[in-house]
Amino acid sequence: MNDAIRNEIVRRLAAVRPSPKSELNFNSPFELLIAVMLSAQTTDQKVNAVTPALFAKAPTPQAMAALNPEDVEPFIKTLGLFRSKAKHVVEASRILCEKHNALVPQDFQALVSLPGVGEKTAKVVLNVAFGRPLMAVDTHIFRVSGRTGLSRAKTPAAVGAFLEKHLASDLLINAHHWILLHGRYCCTARKPQCAQCPIADLCEYKEKTH
Ligand code: SF4
Repeated sequence: MNDAIRNEIVRRLAAVRPSPKSELNFNSPFELLIAVMLSAQTTDQKVNAVTPALFAKAPTPQAMAALNPEDVEPFIKTLGLFRSKAKHVVEASRILCEKHNALVPQDFQALVSLPGVGEKTAKVVLNVAFGRPLMAVDTHIFRVSGRTGLSRAKTPAAVGAFLEKHLASDLLINAHHWILLHGRYCCTARKPQCAQCPIADLCEYKEKTH
């Protein structure tokens, strides 16, 4: 696959959802950071169910840092790994207060040095909150990239780095959402909807459904 086709694929997915949004609910970069941290190994819906009460209690890094992990646990106990997530959320908030003027840093290295923040979380925050042309690769984007031929790199991080090089930067601002939502609703894991797919003629997947 060449880059003209890669970019055409993303343009077509863009036409399906011209104004894509994160399916996580948030009202500030801080709330986005916390919501993405909480979303590891769980669904956006489950995170959205718990964050209104948590953010009502602690809407800022200062308020969250004033809590103990044991105070946070009851709010998020329906999520997997809630004990370590509670610890990370409080500790990360303390670091934001101590080192970053209680703001979410717009810097990749500063973000990944926060506890509980990996490369994917950092890229989602930089992309979604600050409009940076970065590609955070989740399980949907990894699957769609491999099937279509957008990128057959072997790891999510390598797929992200590849797409950042090969997609136009204006498309990269929203490409994370477009490809993710295509994977969630059309190119699904078990049974891709190839007959309804807007990129079927460009997709290189050999086992297309009809
Ligand atoms: S044609 Fe099928 S496999 Fe290819 S992107 Fe569309 S849904 Fe996925």
